[in-house]
Amino acid sequence: MPKRILITGAAGFIGSHLCDRFWEEGFEVIGMDNLSTGSLENIAHLIGKGRFTFLHYDVTNFVHVPGELDYILHFASPASPADYLRMPIQTLKVGALGTHKCLGLARAKRATILLASTSEVYGDPLQHPQKESYWGNVNPIGVRGVYDEAKRFMEAMAIAYHRYHGIPVRIARIFNTYGPRMRLDDGRVLPNFIGQALRHEPLTVYGDGSQTRSFCYIDDLVEGIFRLLLHTDYPYPVNLGNPEEVSILQFAQEILTKIPESRSKIVFCPLPEDDPRVRQPDISLAKELLKWEPRISRSEGLARSISYFRQKLGIR
Ligand code: UDP
Repeated sequence: MPKRILITGAAGFIGSHLCDRFWEEGFEVIGMDNLSTGSLENIAHLIGKGRFTFLHYDVTNFVHVPGELDYILHFASPASPADYLRMPIQTLKVGALGTHKCLGLARAKRATILLASTSEVYGDPLQHPQKESYWGNVNPIGVRGVYDEAKRFMEAMAIAYHRYHGIPVRIARIFNTYGPRMRLDDGRVLPNFIGQALRHEPLTVYGDGSQTRSFCYIDDLVEGIFRLLLHTDYPYPVNLGNPEEVSILQFAQEILTKIPESRSKIVFCPLPEDDPRVRQPDISLAKELLKWEPRISRSEGLARSISYFRQKLGIR
């Protein structure tokens, strides 16, 4: 019998790639999504294939999944700042109530559960690069607090279930990830810049562009998640991301050089509230535990992403 895995946020960017990977590995995949930010298009190729079921459902309500479950991946959540600013209450609910429902389900089914946490638990970090041992610098009532605090609660809840009920848990602290199936209008920097460059519109750099991020290509992240779930029983948070750091201004310039026909210029816009100044994962723990590190360079990852967005926009 194939192992059964429930993936919440299955129609989202990361969730849909996880559905593909586990399906290809021979698992029976149950994908759940309320489609608030995800799209059925991302999993359309799996529907009707066998060993894949889609449940259109909001994980913040009581979750009933018939039969046995071996694994749960809780990836449901708005994840782009623009989305969670638009849906603050839903973001808090899916990170808090949704996590509670998933942990309860894991307990009932004796399943191993992996939760999608985030580099946002470090807030605007005062330690650089960020190690798992850093407790973070989060403004709980700031505009990003709805996401950051929900994910911090997620971690606290997961560890409580682990300590009190002995549930096998895994916590991935995911840093900026990019690639095909990001929504062009999700407001994040990469789809914004690529969409703007392909449409010959100005690239909107927020602030002076000196803030940094470190971008991990989706295939590398999926490999990290796969290993964290199956190759270890480590219950505490593990950073997953690409340590190659870049300023947002340099990132804009890199994207323009990859789209040579673009007539776009760079414009500077106001910096959003509580925008972290720097972000870079220390991945020593993942290297040691999982024998994992990213393999796809930013140049290669950008080329693949640009070709996806070209197709989406019908631009050759
Ligand atoms: N950003 C930008 N222009 C945009 C969108 C984002 O300069 O059109 C900046 C944003 O202010 C932040 C960085 O790019 O400093 C990454 O933003 P994103 O929304 O992708 O995610 P974050 O890492 O902030 O969660």
